[in-house]
Amino acid sequence: MIDSILFRNARIAREDSPKLAEGDVLVEGAKIVAVEVGLKTPEGARVIDLAGKIMMPGLFDVHVHVREPGRTDKESIHTGTEAAINGGVTGILAMPNTTPAIDSASLVRTVLDIAARESRIPVMTSGCITKGRLGLEMAGIAGMADAGVVMITDDGDPVANAQLLRLSMEYAREFDLIVASHCETKELSGAGAMNEGKISYKHGIPGIPAISEEICLDRDIRIGQYIGCHIHIQHVTTARGMETIRKFKNEGVKVTCEVAPHHLYFNETHIIDYDTHYKMNPPLRTPEDNELLLQGLIEGVFDVIATDHAPHTEFEKQQQDFVSAPFGITGLETALPSLFHYFIKTGRFGWDLLVKRYSAEPRRLARKEVVSIAPGQAAELVVFDPEAKTLFSRDFMKSKSVNTPFLDKELDGRVEMVMLNGEFLLEGRGV
Ligand SMILES: [Zn+2]
Repeated sequence: MIDSILFRNARIAREDSPKLAEGDVLVEGAKIVAVEVGLKTPEGARVIDLAGKIMMPGLFDVHVHVREPGRTDKESIHTGTEAAINGGVTGILAMPNTTPAIDSASLVRTVLDIAARESRIPVMTSGCITKGRLGLEMAGIAGMADAGVVMITDDGDPVANAQLLRLSMEYAREFDLIVASHCETKELSGAGAMNEGKISYKHGIPGIPAISEEICLDRDIRIGQYIGCHIHIQHVTTARGMETIRKFKNEGVKVTCEVAPHHLYFNETHIIDYDTHYKMNPPLRTPEDNELLLQGLIEGVFDVIATDHAPHTEFEKQQQDFVSAPFGITGLETALPSLFHYFIKTGRFGWDLLVKRYSAEPRRLARKEVVSIAPGQAAELVVFDPEAKTLFSRDFMKSKSVNTPFLDKELDGRVEMVMLNGEFLLEGRGV
């Protein structure tokens, strides 16, 4: 007999409707078989009442650092994907800036093999653009494409050599790969550790000017346009960079882009007492950028929300000064509650935007099938309680690292259940 589960009184979030649908959701085996108001309980079915709770399709994150191979003291494929599940994320695209960097078909296969053993959710990996991410020669692009890579990136660094980027894009075009760009002009960033401006001068911290990102972003899209390659701009932080992308999109250039949650609600003014939890690359910019990026997200300039989940050990983040500490914060476990807390609860955007930008479009970008709460679909879903709260304690978090400004802080909303192919990956929290 197939196990059946009837979720009663779900409020269902979808990408195409600002209104939550109400209904009962029947899961049999791995699939959703019915979504209706007042479904009869099938014999032997387990019934779960979701009154007041939101059900949405599983989220998908296209920018995750799982640090394996090489830095499993920070994170591993196992802990990174458990952190994803804890945040309602049921699929990830990992970044290749590991040690060694993922720049060949054999390394891609190694990572996918580890993931098949260690992860309860699907893991994809991107590959490098250049060998060892050194920016000197092309990585084994054809082989990586053959091994299933859909995106290449030197994330963490730009490809400084424009000619090498152009040649790589020609390869990428032939193999139908997306070239994803971490936009930075190293000569301008120098030893910078935060946004360059009045606040960096005041703190005496070397700055990374907005133009460091904006110039590279403009250059990379122009090369992509010239070659006819799909270019994806990672973690956009400045309103001017975003406007450049909007302009190229309007011209029909094949460019997509992402915004990280922390660039929507944190900015340089949060850097008080040299707290390294606010140090990332690209850096937190200004309050005006927060607001304009949020507007851009609402208007549809950003294709996807992606966390840039970047775990670092406590020693690296806490026991070093601001300039020496590494860039980045974790994000998988805090993304959904934080976006709810700051923007959905306050009415800035609806659940439809969250589903579209953090579930459906990321899967389209990664060439995965989109999931939704509808009959015939795989049962890949998240139950979220908007009335509960989440305290991000060390105990709560599954990530090996806790380098997040939300550590020991509370946000509204709580991920209560996560299901993949009809199996609970997380259950029993609050329900
Ligand atoms: Zn990056």
